Amino acid sequence: MQKVDYIIKADYLLTMEGDLSVIRHGAVAVTGSTITDAGTSQDISGKYTSDNIIDSGNSVIFPGFINTHTHAAMVYFRGIADDLPLQVWLEQHIWPNEMKWLSSDFVADAIELACLEMLKAGVTTYSDMYFYQNISAKQLDKIGMRGVLGSGIIDFPWKDVAQTPDDYFVNCEGLINTWKGNELVTPCVAPHATFTCSPDKYIRAKELAEKYDVPLHTHLAETQFEVAECMKRYGKPPVEHLDSIGFLSERVSAAHCVWLTDKEIDILAQKKVGVAHCIESNLKLASGIAPLPKMLKAGVRAAFGTDGAASNNDLSILGEMSTAAKVHKGVSLDATVVDSKTAMLMATRTGAEIIGLGDKTGSIRPGKKADLVIANLNKPHLTPLYDIYSHITYCMRPGDVETVMVNGKILIDKGRTTTLDQADVIAKAKAWQNKIQSR
Ligand SMILES: [Zn+2]
Repeated sequence: MQKVDYIIKADYLLTMEGDLSVIRHGAVAVTGSTITDAGTSQDISGKYTSDNIIDSGNSVIFPGFINTHTHAAMVYFRGIADDLPLQVWLEQHIWPNEMKWLSSDFVADAIELACLEMLKAGVTTYSDMYFYQNISAKQLDKIGMRGVLGSGIIDFPWKDVAQTPDDYFVNCEGLINTWKGNELVTPCVAPHATFTCSPDKYIRAKELAEKYDVPLHTHLAETQFEVAECMKRYGKPPVEHLDSIGFLSERVSAAHCVWLTDKEIDILAQKKVGVAHCIESNLKLASGIAPLPKMLKAGVRAAFGTDGAASNNDLSILGEMSTAAKVHKGVSLDATVVDSKTAMLMATRTGAEIIGLGDKTGSIRPGKKADLVIANLNKPHLTPLYDIYSHITYCMRPGDVETVMVNGKILIDKGRTTTLDQADVIAKAKAWQNKIQSR
């Protein structure tokens, strides 16, 4: 009998590997930060012993959700300006508030709230685009959550972050040099969008990412405004434009991809670009509805992102799954599109793949990192249970998540945080709210 650090058992186990079959009475063996084995409870109990056996009964174990596009620190602007057209929301509310309030201190505190919210909703990894990523990286390292931290690049100077556009590249290279190889933090190069980054910024960003072999993250084809602007400047729509300058590849995850021509869908598939589908943000800001079923049919790799909490207004992937599965059925008049297995695969394994962490997380397989969620099925809204994939997509709520492990460490233990002080995190957020409101 081999001794392991944890044996975690539940009535249902979804590994998100192979044919996606459900393992009834399943178990996962964990050693250090890594998954040692997974299978039926009987099989695992016959091969391993542990001093820490978690038998969660009427529950389901699945790989932690991956939030493939967010601006985590914007969580402090949640609900600050709603029900407004995108340009008004952005130019009159979000940008002025960011200009006034953003700082290292703001980001340090806000990241704690964002991580707390995500972990409690079963999200174990997020891919971010923002400034002050060195601060976020330190927080992730402290909290124990996994993240791909994209250091933002734009054409113009911004606050104390960059006196000249060159400084964004200096910041980004600094982030890479400090954090590359870290267990939890993956540095990333993040040119903002085609209307805020000139082609030379995109090309430099790509060269930097290739030099250090780190991921690229950008916004792409989010709004009709962006497409019109791109046509005006470059005579091509956004995907064609980035393809023409040689930016697109498997290294790139692109958020939104709402306004695409059929030709552009083919380009995304051919270049293996990962798409972060942010349906709730796109709906709330009235940006449009991305052609997800068409993209999936064409072989585009797509996963879910929440976008920032100011445009969603939460950071839960469960909400994205449910909304996407329903909206695309309604829009296409086809109830078979974005079925619950597809939604779950997007939320986990594909999500990890498109942000460059496919060999590390996103599924439960020996050798991958132990990023696991246990959700309690002993709830009225999850009873009876005929199909676990259907329940996760259509019925499960963040509050059903009870235990969350990241990199072999339990961060949420039956609802209680182990590395964050929830009362303190909420008190700090309230204090920031009071400060922001008083101006
Ligand atoms: Zn975004």
